[in-house]
Amino acid sequence: MNIVTRFAPSPTGYLHIGGIRTALFSWAFAKKNNGKFILRIEDTDIERSTPEAIEIIKAGMKWLKLNHDGEIFYQTQRIERYKELITLLIEQGDAYYCYTSKEELIQLREMQLKEGQKPKYDGRWRPEANKELPIAPEKIQPVIRFKTPKDGVIKWNDMVKGEILIKNEELDDLIIARSDGTPTYNFCVVVDDWDMKVTHVIRGDDHINNTPRQINLLKALNAPIPQYAHLSMILAEDGQKLSKRYGASSVMKYRDDGYLPEAVINYLARLGWSHGDEEIFSVDQLSEWFDFDQVTSSAAQFDQEKLDWINNYYIKNKPAGELAKLIKPKLEDMGIEIIDEDVLKNAIKLYQDREKNLNDFTADILFFFKTPTPPEELKNKYLDVESINFVKDFTDEIATLDWTDSNVNNFIKEFVKKKGVKFPAIAMPLRTIIAGTDNTPNIGSIIFILGIDNIKERISLF
Ligand code: GLU
Repeated sequence: MNIVTRFAPSPTGYLHIGGIRTALFSWAFAKKNNGKFILRIEDTDIERSTPEAIEIIKAGMKWLKLNHDGEIFYQTQRIERYKELITLLIEQGDAYYCYTSKEELIQLREMQLKEGQKPKYDGRWRPEANKELPIAPEKIQPVIRFKTPKDGVIKWNDMVKGEILIKNEELDDLIIARSDGTPTYNFCVVVDDWDMKVTHVIRGDDHINNTPRQINLLKALNAPIPQYAHLSMILAEDGQKLSKRYGASSVMKYRDDGYLPEAVINYLARLGWSHGDEEIFSVDQLSEWFDFDQVTSSAAQFDQEKLDWINNYYIKNKPAGELAKLIKPKLEDMGIEIIDEDVLKNAIKLYQDREKNLNDFTADILFFFKTPTPPEELKNKYLDVESINFVKDFTDEIATLDWTDSNVNNFIKEFVKKKGVKFPAIAMPLRTIIAGTDNTPNIGSIIFILGIDNIKERISLF
């Protein structure tokens, strides 16, 4: 079997973490099985769909390298095809015109609720053997409803949730075309999944209710029924639904906040899926290992700390040259001109082990390119006349050194020994003056990277 999966977002907002995880699992399953992964933009809701949202989807998938096969499908370009099949269903007797007005539907609903029944269309326009239908009112443009089978059940073996069974009697006669003739959501999905030869429908479990309706439609069209995998929700850290604050923001926000795409992919893959105890894996390993048996059917919980941990892992392990390409534009946005690329690369090497994201990273190494102004609190703590003089003596002596990283570091050790003080006595004032903070990695290496002239200049300001 040629496996075909699809990602079918509605471009009505930003592409959030849940959406991207659905795309990732669909992509991984297709890759694992040498299949095809389709991108389909479900843009028939003209009022809510926007070109910006389409661009965000494309940009997000490109950033994460979730490449789709073939062209992008747009539902708005396929309206004629949907209409053709709606006509076919009417001709077959599987769909019918319904002239019930909005007011009548409201009345019906109120009556059913009063009588303790579940509100449901009562089938008054549904053609039936030996049933006489009302005369079509002239002023009303009818909708088209699907003749849902009255008896029997729809049953499928969900690849995530297991067996699901829904009785047809619980389903309404679904509207498949509105009174203006436009096809409705469930119908478009069914036609597309069929035409695009989708074998595995992988989507959020908020669509479980649509599945029996879609299966009935597929059956009426004589189309094959795909396999279904309904992914569980992702909850916020407090167990609530994801809100804008917690992970539901656009996936591009993660890029803007300094996360690496490989870290986001790795993190999302582990959200609801596992492969033994592996926490760190490449996208190639994911596409090799991915399997629905290991996808959990319970909700997954977003964990910011873990995302940061994984991002730190990828930052730590990325070559400095590659990190430099990502950090340089951020520094330039802050008005910094990088003259010496080696300073940038060396600063990156010195800091990369401790950094959780590229934005904090950039902020932490900014002082290499711009003389900092230490906060008053640190000045009061570490910079009195005595310590400033001490630092000045130190610079005079170190200036004579043969300038290598290890010589500079050894020199500091010797210097404190000679002066009979502890390391912080020199390190803290130096950090405060040179970096504007008391928290840095090895101060000797910082001095080495910046060079003696730069150091002297900074110290001369005090
Ligand atoms: N367009 C739907 C959504 O964005 C997905 C439909 C589907 O995957 O079948 O929620």
